Amino acid sequence: MTSPLTVLQTVFGYPAFRPLQEAVVQRLVDGEDALVLMPTGGGKSLCYQVPALVRPGCGIVISPLIALMQDQVDALRELGVRAAYLNSSLDSATAQTVEQALANGQLDLLYIAPERLVQNRMLDLLQRADIALFAIDEAHCVSQWGHDFRADYLQLSLLHERFPAVPRIALTATADARTRQEIITRLDLEGAEKFIAGFDRPNIRYRIALKQNPKQQLLRFLKAEHPRDAGIVYCLSRKKVEETALWLQQEGYNALPYHAGLPAALRSSHQSRFLREDAVIMVATIAFGMGIDKPDVRFVAHLDLPKTIEAYYQETGRAGRDGLPADAWLVYGLQDVLKLRQMMDNSEGSAEHKRAEQQRLNAMLGLCEITTCRRQALLHYFGDDLPQPCGNCDTCLEPVPTWDGTEAARMALSAVYRTGQRFGVNHLIEVLRGIENDRIFQYDHHCLPTFGVGKALDNHQWRSVFRQLVAGGYLTADLERFGALRLQDKCRGLLKGEETLQLRKDIARKATRQQTRQPLPEEVDVGLWEALRECRRSLAETQGIPPYIIFHDRTLQDMCAQLPRDIAAFGRLSGVGERKRDKYGRDFLRVIEQHLEQSTA
Ligand code: ADP
Ligand code: ZN
Repeated sequence: MTSPLTVLQTVFGYPAFRPLQEAVVQRLVDGEDALVLMPTGGGKSLCYQVPALVRPGCGIVISPLIALMQDQVDALRELGVRAAYLNSSLDSATAQTVEQALANGQLDLLYIAPERLVQNRMLDLLQRADIALFAIDEAHCVSQWGHDFRADYLQLSLLHERFPAVPRIALTATADARTRQEIITRLDLEGAEKFIAGFDRPNIRYRIALKQNPKQQLLRFLKAEHPRDAGIVYCLSRKKVEETALWLQQEGYNALPYHAGLPAALRSSHQSRFLREDAVIMVATIAFGMGIDKPDVRFVAHLDLPKTIEAYYQETGRAGRDGLPADAWLVYGLQDVLKLRQMMDNSEGSAEHKRAEQQRLNAMLGLCEITTCRRQALLHYFGDDLPQPCGNCDTCLEPVPTWDGTEAARMALSAVYRTGQRFGVNHLIEVLRGIENDRIFQYDHHCLPTFGVGKALDNHQWRSVFRQLVAGGYLTADLERFGALRLQDKCRGLLKGEETLQLRKDIARKATRQQTRQPLPEEVDVGLWEALRECRRSLAETQGIPPYIIFHDRTLQDMCAQLPRDIAAFGRLSGVGERKRDKYGRDFLRVIEQHLEQSTA
């Protein structure tokens, strides 16, 4: 047997395992079961790929996402691994060839869709073959909260009965304890050792800003920080997706729309361009993203507020799977809060369901308004604790000034009360600021004791107060009455003077104050970097595979930093295994050499 470390170094070209990987790999090599919970980008694939190569026989990987199998298999073949897949997209002749290869012991890894695996014919075939291990990817699909693919996944418990001697590994990025327990019970994994990684994604920088002029804010963000990067921009509605994509195209970006209303062929062509071309921006509804494991998504931007923290974490988690710096960027404002609250009130479902939805939205709003570390709050929400502020979120980088908003909040609440809880924000602000106009006179609001008591604050400041009161659950918006604000029980303490309230000071942040951050370390030569990217792009194009299957950005960075001059030095770069060294070494060495000649000339 070759040692796991040797396989990691020669096939994958990585110098060392990550801490948890090593233990998981050893467990499987020893023939035992494992349950692995790791965040996206944590490195789950190596946990089964390495032992499958170390152990005799073929590793069987069960994965529900047919669209991804091809890329995974392409990536493995690039490494010189004998990999194949079986799913409904194959014609029967190709499927037969794959099955034959399995029977002849000519495969190291075989990806199979769950519904295919549980067919009797397939099980018989497996019974006759030499199996190294079973890897059950996206194992949360067995859970009743996993909804998709559940029926097929539930049948996977038969693996244990039919193949008692073959080690199994179940993997998921879904954290919560209920799902974890269900995986163990449903898949008969009581005896499996549990490996649980923290859910932190330290390379993602979380930023949530006040929505002022969202398009301009997005444009500034893209120009300053991601002029040539791939990323995702999430919008709530299909219409907004299309408008935003069009507008970004006009601004010179390679932007594509994606939502469930587009024809399937167009959707899949856009998805494939996102994976294969450099620097595509996908503008999408939440319909986009499931199972996208493009490693070099450098930013996820939200132009609308996600409904829950779970959704926010999942969507932003698509950034930076390769571990390099990435941004999660969101703008939100009072209108978002009102709109979402109203949509929920209006939705189908029991009162209890609505209440639960409102609570989850409240948690999301709490995250937006928080004045302490965002990452601590996020991880705390998922039951993980981060002892120190992270230093890589907006509130850590630029501490939020607060002010004592108790008095202003009381004025605002009293304006709501005295006008009969029948008016929206704009009118209430006019009352507070003592604006004399027709509507005010029509309702005799100039006679109220609250009229004009709030002249010290301007329009923006009042909107900020109202937004924070709605976000904090002191006020709620009434759909029937066009967003009229109503008092909630929570107000009592404030109105009675028993409670004080610290509010965020919303200051317009100038674009220039955000430091520009390139994914490149400073010492890297941009000219060389671009030339290497171009080399990778053209190699990928000739072979019809995504550029990251050839080398990840991290490996290109390593080239810039190490400047290898010969094939042996090239082979020592992170992410360069023996096969890629031999296949691509010369092409990239030539680019490096040309660059060095030019810069010394
Ligand atoms: P997951 O499936 O958990 O989201 P992947 O298996 O796709 O994560 O791995 C994420 C990234 O980390 C990939 O780019 C992978 O090549 C890289 N990676 C994984 N393990 C290592 C390692 N030991 N050394 C260096 N890079 C690694
Ligand atoms: Zn922080």
